[in-house]
Amino acid sequence: MADNMTVNREMFNDVMVPNYNPASMIPVKGEGARVWDQDGREYVDFAGGIAVNCLGHCHPAMVSALQEQSQKLWHLSNVFTNGPAIRLAKKLTEATFADRVYYANSGAEANEAALKLARRWAIEKHGEHKQKIIAFTKGFHGRTFFTVTVGGQPAYSDGFGPKPGGVDHVDYNNIDALKALISDDTCAVMMEPLQGEGGVVSPDVEFVKAVRELCDQNNALLIFDEVQTGFGRTGSLYAYEQLGVTPDILTSAKALGGGFPIGAMLTTTEIAEHLKPGTHGSTYGGNPLACAVSEAVFDIVNTKETLDGVKQREQWFKEQLAAINEKYNVFSEIRGQGLLLGAAMNKEYEGRARDFLLAGQEHGVMVLIAGANVVRFTPSLVISEEDVKEGLQRFEKAVAQVVGQ
Ligand SMILES: *Cc1c(COP(=O)(O)O)cnc(C)c1O
Repeated sequence: MADNMTVNREMFNDVMVPNYNPASMIPVKGEGARVWDQDGREYVDFAGGIAVNCLGHCHPAMVSALQEQSQKLWHLSNVFTNGPAIRLAKKLTEATFADRVYYANSGAEANEAALKLARRWAIEKHGEHKQKIIAFTKGFHGRTFFTVTVGGQPAYSDGFGPKPGGVDHVDYNNIDALKALISDDTCAVMMEPLQGEGGVVSPDVEFVKAVRELCDQNNALLIFDEVQTGFGRTGSLYAYEQLGVTPDILTSAKALGGGFPIGAMLTTTEIAEHLKPGTHGSTYGGNPLACAVSEAVFDIVNTKETLDGVKQREQWFKEQLAAINEKYNVFSEIRGQGLLLGAAMNKEYEGRARDFLLAGQEHGVMVLIAGANVVRFTPSLVISEEDVKEGLQRFEKAVAQVVGQ
């Protein structure tokens, strides 16, 4: 089969497992915040590969890190260590509360490691009774069977037979519900410091503080899933910094690799000690190619210029989305933080977020949804003002089209 065989969207249905339903167009090229499809149509990308492409497409620093490393060493396995992995871990630990890093290849795997570590820590340190994990309704932590069970959307974990046990859920921002459930048997509380997939829902600052206190009172670990909020997305390297609460374990992925698959779990020396040699692992985790790219991304993201720039861009989006809403009255709220933003449908447009996404594609702008009611924006953290303007003008046309229907 020729490697230049022309493909089309219909062929997807013939050769792929039908768990996805991708767009009708097929992107072939990206540069910064712009993407081109097979027909040469150009799009402004506000989706950013679901909060992954934090420096846009094909950023020169990433391309050069990848090319350079690709000529030295691609892969070793964890039978050996490598320079990029250690350098990146040094940078991550210097920039955060953490002292130790475990590498994975995705968000779900980083969370799987976090949950297994929490269980080991609790059982070894406090005894077999301490196994309960508490998480939040509408939370999302990935698609492995453990992480999807801890996630707060039963629709994603039902229908696969017996689930991992010892997992309970309470409503996000409901401190009384957590207080009623947490006990000496609780091993960990896992949460997103801003729910992404669940609808771009911010926690109350008081709630997060209370979660930390309840964990402390019950000797439970606090795990922050920063797979979506992390690596500059909310305007600080990690969202916990702005909440004034420090977790015991933090997971990072998505923007961490800027488009190259990598995940990481960060924790303290004392907790890390419970993953002794042989207790957990990954063939690819800490792969030199992934770590070299991630290090290049880190060097740009973890600067005042980039992080302040996220706040600036947040303002551009919020102001222009508010102006669109003045005209068309479709949103009840524009929410979120940094460049993890959501426009929630008002009553009249309830359940129709996807219509806006599809109309956006027709008008040359890629956006995301978060549930049926929220249009989500997770663009490049360094998107230009011109691209923001152009993309939102296109989005306005999409809104006008949906409203006119
Ligand atoms: C995307 C996401 C995950 C899962 O990451 P994968 O790389 O798809 O496994 C986990 N947690 C949160 C908060 C996410 O947004």
